[in-house]
Amino acid sequence: MRLYTDHGFLIHVTSCASCGGTPFYTRRYSGEVLCSSCFRESIVEKTRRTVSRHHMIVPGDRLAVAVSGGKDSLSLLRVLTSLYGPRNIPITAISVDEGVAGYRDEALGHARSVASELGVDHVVVSYKEMFGFSLDEALDWKEERDTSSCSFCGVFRRRAIDEAAVKSNATVVATAHNLDDYVQTFMMNLMHGDVARLGWLDPSYSDESFPVRRVKPFMEIYEEEVALFAYESRLPFQSVSCPYMHEGLRSEVRDYLNAMEASHPGIKNVLLRSSLDVIARYSGSHGKSSVPCAECGKPSSSGLCSVCRMKAAVEGHVKSRA
Ligand SMILES: [Zn+2]
Ligand SMILES: [Zn+2]
Repeated sequence: MRLYTDHGFLIHVTSCASCGGTPFYTRRYSGEVLCSSCFRESIVEKTRRTVSRHHMIVPGDRLAVAVSGGKDSLSLLRVLTSLYGPRNIPITAISVDEGVAGYRDEALGHARSVASELGVDHVVVSYKEMFGFSLDEALDWKEERDTSSCSFCGVFRRRAIDEAAVKSNATVVATAHNLDDYVQTFMMNLMHGDVARLGWLDPSYSDESFPVRRVKPFMEIYEEEVALFAYESRLPFQSVSCPYMHEGLRSEVRDYLNAMEASHPGIKNVLLRSSLDVIARYSGSHGKSSVPCAECGKPSSSGLCSVCRMKAAVEGHVKSRA
């Protein structure tokens, strides 16, 4: 980094702004230069501020952390454990085994080993035991892997995490969505015309049907900084993505926002603030009024919730093949 003194001399700043140590990372949007250790400390501190600003975790809470075994969720578990637990606030790591042969086992292994290293309970729930089929079986009848595989899987994963959080007696469940995920979802909701669903992006979301609050403590941290935190913390994580992954519109939105950030450093932060401002006006109105699902009793807009509707579709396809 180059700076000019009052006398016009060019000087090179070659040390961490915080401790004077070896520089490792420059935050482009703020110009801050940090060594590896101060960088990691800054991520912990940023997370603490996000949690406190949005009242995500309060005294007396019991925390569940959704841990897929990827870089974001393992980093989240590490940061939240260093900030709050497990002696101050009971923490349970929750992993969902979707049942994808040859893919899920590695990530579950990382989740297990990091949880045990941190002294945190680890619970694994599977699609098979919860819904009666694995993701492999559920998608077996489909001709091609497309965007609907992800939205299909997302509906079941959300329900699985919810049920595991209730079982582990949690009052709050944290997911590892970072700033990039957050603003991408915001933009995609706008592009899909799903304005009523913006309420779901409330930083500390809860509704009458589900007593456990859902929070995103990394929502103010750039994806690249979470990745860097994982590397610098030497976390073992799975970098291969799910074989069914097909992001469609999301990857275009991601590329667009990354290009914008490259030419206008900090623009993602601005977009996050705008999103929060819009969402605050929508919180409390989470879409159409709901009626209980005829199958499971969870809220639905049509009398059958999306989990039970998709479950019935899978069972129908499995039967028709037999
Ligand atoms: Zn430093
Ligand atoms: Zn249902």
